[in-house]
Amino acid sequence: MYDVGASFITPMPNNSYLAALDMDIEEGKPFLSNSKSGCSRITEAIGFDERTNGKSACASLCTTGCRIFLAGDACHCHSLGGQGMNTGIQDAINLGWKLIFVLKGLSGRVNGATATPLSLSELEDIAQKLLAASRSVISNWFVIPLSDTTAHGVLGHWIFSFYNCNCIHAGDRWPYDHLPLPSSFDSTKFTIVLFEGVNGALAAPLSEQELEVIAQKLVGASRGIISNWFVISSSDGNAHKEFGVHGQCGFLVRPDGYVGLRMEPVKDNEVLNYLYSVSCAKHFINSLFSASCHKLSSICACWATVEYVDVLIVGAGPTGLTTAAELVRNGLTNILIVDRAIETVLQTKSAVVWPRSLELLERYEGVVEAVSERCLRVKYAVLRNREREMSQLPLHEYFDSKYNFGAVHEQWYMEKCLIEYLDRNGVQVMRSPEVVGYEYDKGDVKVKLKTNDDKELFVKAKYVVGCDGARSTIRKLMKFPFSGEVLPHQFLAVHFTTKEPLDIRDDALTFFMYDVGECFMTTMPNNSYLVVLDMDDAEGAPFLSPTKVDAHGLPVLLDLTKDAMQKALINHCTPLDIDQVLWASHYRVNQRIVEHYWDGSRIFLAGDACHCHSAIAGQGMNTGIQDAVNLGWKLAFVLKGLSGHHLLASYESERLPVGEQVIELTTGGQKMASNRNKWVQALRNCVVSLIASKPFVVSRIAQTLGEISISYHNSVLSAEYWRYRPWFPSISNYIHAGDRWPFHHLSLSTSFDPTKFTIVLFEGTNGATLLSLCELEVIVKKLVGASSGIISNWFVIPSPDVNAHKAFKVHGQCGFLVRPDGYVGLRMEPIDENVVLNYLRGRFSAEPPKAPIHPWAVDWMQFMLAGLVSNKAHFILMCMCYSKVIK
Ligand SMILES: Cc1cc2nc3c(=O)[nH]c(=O)nc-3n(C[C@H](O)[C@H](O)[C@H](O)COP(=O)(O)OP(=O)(O)OC[C@H]3O[C@@H](n4cnc5c(N)ncnc54)[C@H](O)[C@@H]3O)c2cc1C
Repeated sequence: MYDVGASFITPMPNNSYLAALDMDIEEGKPFLSNSKSGCSRITEAIGFDERTNGKSACASLCTTGCRIFLAGDACHCHSLGGQGMNTGIQDAINLGWKLIFVLKGLSGRVNGATATPLSLSELEDIAQKLLAASRSVISNWFVIPLSDTTAHGVLGHWIFSFYNCNCIHAGDRWPYDHLPLPSSFDSTKFTIVLFEGVNGALAAPLSEQELEVIAQKLVGASRGIISNWFVISSSDGNAHKEFGVHGQCGFLVRPDGYVGLRMEPVKDNEVLNYLYSVSCAKHFINSLFSASCHKLSSICACWATVEYVDVLIVGAGPTGLTTAAELVRNGLTNILIVDRAIETVLQTKSAVVWPRSLELLERYEGVVEAVSERCLRVKYAVLRNREREMSQLPLHEYFDSKYNFGAVHEQWYMEKCLIEYLDRNGVQVMRSPEVVGYEYDKGDVKVKLKTNDDKELFVKAKYVVGCDGARSTIRKLMKFPFSGEVLPHQFLAVHFTTKEPLDIRDDALTFFMYDVGECFMTTMPNNSYLVVLDMDDAEGAPFLSPTKVDAHGLPVLLDLTKDAMQKALINHCTPLDIDQVLWASHYRVNQRIVEHYWDGSRIFLAGDACHCHSAIAGQGMNTGIQDAVNLGWKLAFVLKGLSGHHLLASYESERLPVGEQVIELTTGGQKMASNRNKWVQALRNCVVSLIASKPFVVSRIAQTLGEISISYHNSVLSAEYWRYRPWFPSISNYIHAGDRWPFHHLSLSTSFDPTKFTIVLFEGTNGATLLSLCELEVIVKKLVGASSGIISNWFVIPSPDVNAHKAFKVHGQCGFLVRPDGYVGLRMEPIDENVVLNYLRGRFSAEPPKAPIHPWAVDWMQFMLAGLVSNKAHFILMCMCYSKVIK
């Protein structure tokens, strides 16, 4: 600090120095210039002023809900003092966590401010209900017991320290360095710290157990906002001292390490009110709904306008829940699932989850494990006539999957597993609101919901998925015809227990093919049984209303008594004595499908909402689950900016044909099984006995039932590149683009990211190796880097790994690009990185490709020339084959 002004100097890394000093006009003259560059420096300075003005303009805009923020030097600049970059970093952290909270749906935007806060007693009531459903999101805690008086200082000291500002206030930095943080500490969430305190007489403190209960309640009720909690340990006297705490008190600490709330004494309602009024979290409101929808639906009336979500899922059946799970798995939590049913309905309905569905459900952590705990594993299908077992189909031998069985359990249990997965990830089902209408509103879809006590609310969503079952409201609102037919017979499904165990295999699905029609029977968990059978007009007559008719003009079905059910069951399958009926349903079968799975814009249909059919092959729920996965990853890609909106068109082009095949299969199968003509039955039983022993037939049946054979060959996302195309590629025994990729033959590391594409390169075993292993590794890493986040997993399989080459049916050097849902997107032989890049560019660009990519598009010129140069026979054969050339 000399007479010539202030200067600052500091040693820097690598034996260097940094100096900053100020010069008066005289001294600075040699450094001023009249040149243009000098002017531009001045302009830059003016620019600063403009930006400062800009900042205040933006700040006022922000208060009305704009989306542009300034941080760092863009909104404040000043002299030295070592503050500029540090302040900028802290601006960034402060804004960052708030943006993340809003984007993840943990906090609402402006609309929440219009909601009326709940009274304390209401919140208490809700918090207790929520506790039952809470997961231990907060896992760390410490208790400082009353007995530790030495650690707490003297009674009354807190009053003194408060007024001397010697305690930590709301808004102060929280000294985290005084708390040992466990490795599970989540720094992106709020932390709650409760101190038991020492001045019991003054604050009427709560016991240690009561504090624990409160902490758990708050974690559950915060629905993902609070994730860490500490109730300071009894032995930790220093902690109390360091935090300046004496009385029983609590702190809620923000993700950026500042105290959001300080309370003394500890009161759970204070925290709930704080969360409600400060963050106005969507999920918090949702949780209130799921806890007590009757009481809280009054909130809806106060909602001025709308909740804003990325995806609104209508219907919390297996399809809706899987759609939500797929989005959550992809990191999207700003979603809303609504279901008009107040509670999960305990329906047995779908009994079998097939291998392909299990492979897909495996991605949702804990779901398949939970299913495995309850399910029975069926490996055979058994066909019986009145006298004997006609044939036994060993399905498991042909399920080329990690799951070589069908998992048998009730549909409500599948739903429960998915709901628990969502709950663990902070997403709940909002129960009671029913969708009653929608309209497009500036590109978003504004959906009108009605609660069961007639309150209205609106949700604005970027995308809506109608998973609302066979009587879908969304489908009706879209005015999509649901074409098809009603099968002639009545169907009866009964889930029951018996006094004596039945003579039926529990490793098989049994199909009784009697003269009275079809009957399916399976053992269910807890020594129970499920039977589904059809009744013709004569048998079913007593169960039809003589006067009333339904929408299709058919007599209304009447409820069945236990005796009537027992009579029908004995007639159709095996002698039995029903003890308890666990669930029963009496219905007609509609075989129906829509013409479109989406409206071409932002509304989609999935599951029974777009296809419904007989339960004969156990395909309904499984097909819905796979619709959901197919749509889910594509929605996630679009919402995460990994692809343009045009990717979503492939949902319909891939899943509609699958739905049509299921309708075809079940219509034919059900009509054949229900046929009452004696001659047709005799012929059917004869053919079944004859062909069911043939391995290729069993293999075909297993692949179809297990849904392993589903493929998307005709999809725009399926492409093959060959230098030397195999003859008759459609019947060649290799994995085509569009086929399911048998992931179980690869061992996946813990870093495997199933939400992204996987690239697999084979060095080849046929001697004609083109690129070395090292070169392949270089290519693969380059592609991962150049894929803009689309590819994130890679495998290079070396030649000596003959088993892997065999398992994936490859010989020459080749490569595969596998989609997040486990289907092959691109197959190339030989490996060419440009082919991969072109594939990605053509399909995942922000804008749709100019010329539509047709899956069977053939570069005919290249094709014919190649043929001419090789030989004529090849040329003719190639012209006869379809092919796909992508380059
Ligand atoms: C006897 C029987 C046996 C079966 N066995 C099998 C089997 O073994 N394997 C198999 O895969 N499938 C089987 N199925 C078929 C399977 O049960 C259905 O395919 C499956 O339930 C479809 O699931 P989803 O989620 O699409 O629709 P749903 O399960 O019907 O769910 C629709 C949800 O939407 C809600 N909802 C409806 N309208 C609205 C609205 N307007 N607003 C808000 N919410 C709304 C409903 O409350 C419901 O919760 C069987 C079916 C039956 C009847």
